[in-house]
Amino acid sequence: MKHYNVIVVGGGAAGIFAAGFAAMHGSQVLLLEKNQHPGAKVLITGKGRCNLTNSEYDARQFCEVFGRNGKSLLTALYAFSVEDTIHFFEQHGLPLKTERGGRVFPARGTAVDVQKVLDAFIKASGVDLKTSCAVKNIELSGGRVARVLTSQGEFSADSFIVATGGLSYPETGCTGDGYHWAEETGHRLIKPEPALVPIQLVEPWTAEVSHFNLKNVQIKAMQQGKLLTERFGEAFFTRGGIGGPIILDMSANIRDALKYGPVSLVLDLKPAVETELFDKRLQRELASHSNKDFRNSLENLLPKDMIPLFIGLSGISPDKKCHSVTKVEREALLALFKKLELQVSSVGGFKKAIVTSGGVSLKDIDMRTMRSKKIENLYFAGEVIDLDGPTGGYNLQLCWSTGYLAGISAAGG
Ligand SMILES: Cc1cc2nc3c(=O)[nH]c(=O)nc-3n(C[C@H](O)[C@H](O)[C@H](O)COP(=O)(O)OP(=O)(O)OC[C@H]3O[C@@H](n4cnc5c(N)ncnc54)[C@H](O)[C@@H]3O)c2cc1C
Repeated sequence: MKHYNVIVVGGGAAGIFAAGFAAMHGSQVLLLEKNQHPGAKVLITGKGRCNLTNSEYDARQFCEVFGRNGKSLLTALYAFSVEDTIHFFEQHGLPLKTERGGRVFPARGTAVDVQKVLDAFIKASGVDLKTSCAVKNIELSGGRVARVLTSQGEFSADSFIVATGGLSYPETGCTGDGYHWAEETGHRLIKPEPALVPIQLVEPWTAEVSHFNLKNVQIKAMQQGKLLTERFGEAFFTRGGIGGPIILDMSANIRDALKYGPVSLVLDLKPAVETELFDKRLQRELASHSNKDFRNSLENLLPKDMIPLFIGLSGISPDKKCHSVTKVEREALLALFKKLELQVSSVGGFKKAIVTSGGVSLKDIDMRTMRSKKIENLYFAGEVIDLDGPTGGYNLQLCWSTGYLAGISAAGG
């Protein structure tokens, strides 16, 4: 059995960084990944474009987006910052660009190019990579991790880093193994829950809708007349549901609220225009199409593919001439644009969750090093820990920063 300085379990964003930087700090490193290739999840990030970090905020504000536990990320973020991430990928030949909201993407390439950089990094740093190698268990001896038992035999090391991710998108290899090992070795686990998930809707018409993009819309989540949360930005209807960045970011609130009663969404398609002003706009549109059928009147107000849906929902006969649309009918149409109400039936599960909230409790991790407070030669990095952020590149940055810190700490750096 070959002995290593550091064994990293899990070849995702966090594990690759942990392994590569541990090796660059002089350690002999073994990276174990159960898939045939590391970085499977990276490939599907950002709709295949990989939003690899977010440069909108300074370090403190960056941490705040992670909510109540966010502050604990600060050391890792100082150790490997957003600027370091940008520098790392650009130095490795991948130019980046920053889009709206500080979201950073490859300038020309895609997530495949990000994966290529990570592959090259593993190679160049001298990491021993074993793929198709599932870790079955970690074994303790004298209160330390002594070895890992895998589908390809046993491996021992001085230090071990668990970077097995969460439970979301299980087809990428995330089956929560790190959670079991953490619990078995005395760490507290905050219940893993699907986070950043699309929402299923009650309205039967949504089942007929295949994909409508909603740009610059406002959505309010309401319960018993009270505002739960609201967002402005991008969303889209999918068959039977609604997804997109602003919905994903509200999904955790909505999941919690559903425990106490029904939740509705109120969609404003024209949030930049006051209701009264938009009513005037509607009147002008109808007047300018006066002798046309109602079905031909909305092209200046809606994307083409949404018009038949709106005509149907309005209850106004498509053949009706615009000049004979009544005030009551127009008000119903106005309500569709300004406060379309949708009932939430459920929030999606792990299969569709972008991240897992919960995980190994930060109370049992020294966040200055990513080392376990229970087992002195065990470290955690990435989604497996109890930290999750909104969409926008925050979750990958969490992986780069905690992976880096775990790697150099385990290497004694
Ligand atoms: C569809 C989608 C889009 C996303 N888009 C973005 C985005 O654009 N920007 C962003 O910041 N975040 C995005 N995220 C979130 C981000 O991808 C994750 O937070 C991040 O990849 C988690 O990295 P990780 O290294 O912690 O875990 P993972 O990437 O999940 O890696 C864990 C690895 O461990 C391996 N593993 C697990 N158990 C074992 C075992 N027993 N033995 C050996 N190997 C094991 C798995 O096979 C896996 O490869 C997206 C997520 C999804 C699902």
